[in-house]
Amino acid sequence: MKLYIKEYFENLFNIIRFDRINLIATWSCDYRCKTCQAWKRNDHMMSREQAEQIINFPGFKKITQFDLEGGEATRWLLFDWFLIKLLNTHPKLKVGIPCNGLNTDHILKLFQNIKDNADYKRIQISISLNGIGKTHDKIRGVKGGFDKTMNTLVGLKEMNYNPSINFLPIAENFDELELIKNMPYPLTLVVPSGSGKFESEEDWADYNFPEYLNAVRDHHKTLKGGWKWALQYFVDHIEKRKIMSCYGARSFIAIYPKGDIRTCIFREDKDALIGQVYDNRIDIYKDKIKQLTKEIKCGKCMYPNGHLVCGGQWIPQSIRRNIIELIRWKIGLS
Ligand code: SF4
Ligand code: SF4
Repeated sequence: MKLYIKEYFENLFNIIRFDRINLIATWSCDYRCKTCQAWKRNDHMMSREQAEQIINFPGFKKITQFDLEGGEATRWLLFDWFLIKLLNTHPKLKVGIPCNGLNTDHILKLFQNIKDNADYKRIQISISLNGIGKTHDKIRGVKGGFDKTMNTLVGLKEMNYNPSINFLPIAENFDELELIKNMPYPLTLVVPSGSGKFESEEDWADYNFPEYLNAVRDHHKTLKGGWKWALQYFVDHIEKRKIMSCYGARSFIAIYPKGDIRTCIFREDKDALIGQVYDNRIDIYKDKIKQLTKEIKCGKCMYPNGHLVCGGQWIPQSIRRNIIELIRWKIGLS
């Protein structure tokens, strides 16, 4: 509770304290998903020197959660070296890794090396599934992808990792949601976002969004603990198109492959640049963060695209910290 109160006041007074980093070390990817533009970008990969700066930067000492994503993060040539060093340097840090699971042998080898050299239990791997069998392959643009991805899931479980599944609905896979729900892995139902990285809004237009939101609500009811309140708040506000808290820029940040530090993974525009990782130092633009914090609080970046609302994973995380707002909503005052 002490932590929640501290974070509430930090939010109120716009205090900058980086707590969570989302690192995209490369946009390179071996899938060709319809719902994502990442694989069409350049294959630039973050350098070892920049990665060292991130691990050792004093301004990132208070980070509690580190997400390493892409593109496909396991294609980054420094993937296992980086994670071993990160986990061993920050003994309390938790790490999240979304993974497409396509290159089974390569992925299992990397995670075996990490298991042998670091506290691997602090890693949460989430594997994206877009449906069963051919449905998955069609959406992901690679034949045989489903079987390989399933082999990776099984292999990770056998290695004692606890992989989960991420599901993003579109018209073609909507009917397979029940099958995905019955798989023996923890499940996250992604709420589509209208922002940056996922630009194919038209792919989502054909399914029943309110019906999907109800399925997400039902799924959240099966989860345990106070965390599900934040998720329920999130879904309700998306449906009603109400502005929500986002700690993007002042607490949660994203770092792109060339080292630009941004408000979140969605915002590529020049305006969202809040710092830079170089080979020999990191610069943070505090005035820019203050300006963007005000804009984010007003919801300026939350509704960029017609009917869709920003569904970034940082928003439920932010709400969970904004405990007063969460209680007000729970008792019907907001
Ligand atoms: S959604 Fe993931 S797996 Fe698909 S192309 Fe984008 S980064 Fe690759
Ligand atoms: S509301 Fe969305 S687009 Fe805006 S900073 Fe937060 S995650 Fe990024």
